[in-house]
Amino acid sequence: MRAAIAAVEADPDISVALVSKVYPMRSHTVSAEGGAAGVAREDDSLEMHGFDTVKGSDFLGDQDVIQYFVEHAPKELTRLEHWGCPWSRNEDGSVATRAFGGMSTKRTWYAADKVGFHMLHSLFQHSLRFDRIVRYDEQFVTKLIVDGGQVRGVTALDIREGVVRCILGRAVVLCTGGAGKIFPFTTNGNIKTGDGMALAYRSGVPLKDMEFVQYHPTGLPGTGILITEATRGEGGHVKNKDGERFLVTRDYGVGKKAELGPRDMISRAIVQEIEAGRGIDSQYGQYALLDLTHLGEEKIDSRLPMVRELCKIYAGVDPVYEPIPIRPVVHYMMGGVDVDIDGKANGVSGLFAAGETACVSLNGANRLGSNSLTECLVFGARSGLSAVNFAKGASAGDDAALAKVGEAEQGRIDALRGKQGGGETLAGIRGDMQKAMESGCGVYREEATMQQTVRDIAELEGRYANLSLEDSSKVFNTEIVAALELENMLDCARAVSNSAASRNESRGAHTRRDATARDDVNFLYHTLCHFDPAGPRLDKKDVTLGRWEPEERKY
Ligand SMILES: Cc1cc2nc3c(=O)[nH]c(=O)nc-3n(C[C@H](O)[C@H](O)[C@H](O)COP(=O)(O)OP(=O)(O)OC[C@H]3O[C@@H](n4cnc5c(N)ncnc54)[C@H](O)[C@@H]3O)c2cc1C
Repeated sequence: MRAAIAAVEADPDISVALVSKVYPMRSHTVSAEGGAAGVAREDDSLEMHGFDTVKGSDFLGDQDVIQYFVEHAPKELTRLEHWGCPWSRNEDGSVATRAFGGMSTKRTWYAADKVGFHMLHSLFQHSLRFDRIVRYDEQFVTKLIVDGGQVRGVTALDIREGVVRCILGRAVVLCTGGAGKIFPFTTNGNIKTGDGMALAYRSGVPLKDMEFVQYHPTGLPGTGILITEATRGEGGHVKNKDGERFLVTRDYGVGKKAELGPRDMISRAIVQEIEAGRGIDSQYGQYALLDLTHLGEEKIDSRLPMVRELCKIYAGVDPVYEPIPIRPVVHYMMGGVDVDIDGKANGVSGLFAAGETACVSLNGANRLGSNSLTECLVFGARSGLSAVNFAKGASAGDDAALAKVGEAEQGRIDALRGKQGGGETLAGIRGDMQKAMESGCGVYREEATMQQTVRDIAELEGRYANLSLEDSSKVFNTEIVAALELENMLDCARAVSNSAASRNESRGAHTRRDATARDDVNFLYHTLCHFDPAGPRLDKKDVTLGRWEPEERKY
């Protein structure tokens, strides 16, 4: 939506098709709780935000991108307020900011703990002012139409009718979100199936840094529902079964930051506590505790109302009186479609990407909480502008020839719908994929299990060919959508596992038990994963360094 607004504002003559597989307000952004980062206070500076992000990324973030990001973050957040976003305020009327992990001062803007909801609403409402933003809701994009190395639009399955249509355009911006659903236990909504990553990958654009998968330290056991980092920003404590604040009492590398250390380190600390027998048993496995009881009811109700509600409903715990059960949970993909600072995809002209589906290299090996919502604004806007500039000079394709791509897609989908005869089920393949990903590409990784996951996922792609489906109806056939999503997830899972197995060091969220040190001599590069019918092909890309030289990451 930010890209679409930037595009129509930049050029009075263009129109934008906003295509979404769900009603736009149901995008995953709506569930973001904690906040969006941008320098706002006098004791803060762009340099500090820049360095925190570089350090958080374990020196794998591109420093030109980070510089651009921190400069534009406050401008974008202010602009969003002008479009209606109700940021929480301090007593004196200035914008309130809260502490977030890995950030050296309070710089996370928030609207209570319903930040994504308010941000998405503001963007959506503003987008309605432009009749040149034409919405295509509940249309599932199945393919990028690429002709002579240039993207000409997309094919989309109208979920209501079961019909495939071509939506043509001179440029395409992918803003399709992450792929957390390739794992069994995630904070991500069911729609986060890596579709955009797979679309770009199959069209010849490499996926970058896919091995870096962020575990958030505080998810509810069982459901994986997120308990926002704002709980720790507001002063919450992480404890083991003995009530010990192990991030304070033991050496987990977070130093004085304690609960406000970065996510990768806290997730590892919790896993180690559990492995040392200091976790608490439950039917959903072992967990640790997040204690907010000392914050008091008033603070919890004003700053963290949704957390209280979620805990009561989904864990049967009222955080005003009892600690919350928590365990690390898959949350975010640092990797994605390889794009440059303009959002331009590597290898297909006219294609752009922004937000979680893209890897513009802001987050490197580990994202800092609250940088991602701001990333959607800053690089959404920039990629929207880049797309307009490209579209102005681009020729239109041959409509009749392009329509043939739509016919072929319709044929492919008709053949898949209600397909009988294979012995494999959607749930069976999806479950095995998720199990394989957790076992090889979890918080801690090792050569043998990663290699096993690589083999398992390759085998699952074979099994997918024998899929049997049951629903042959056309109207709102959710089974065929799930089948298309599973195909996309398998591509993403393959890219994650192959990229992970190739990185023989520990950096950020990629932590190996059998290669525990970071190795800048051999591995200070971005991993590129190219699609090849014979299996993923890996390549490297330089990291853009700048004023901050890599150093040991200590807090
Ligand atoms: C529970 C939770 C809390 C979070 N809290 C925070 C936070 O406090 N601060 C922060 O910075 N980050 C947070 N994050 C991360 C952040 O919210 C996301 O990274 C970000 O919102 C992603 O936005 P996006 O626009 O890239 O994708 P999304 O919001 O996921 O939107 C993707 C869009 O693409 C569409 N789409 C996808 N595939 C297709 C297809 N095949 N065809 C058509 N349309 C398609 C979808 O319909 C949707 O509209 C949180 C994430 C989660 C899961």
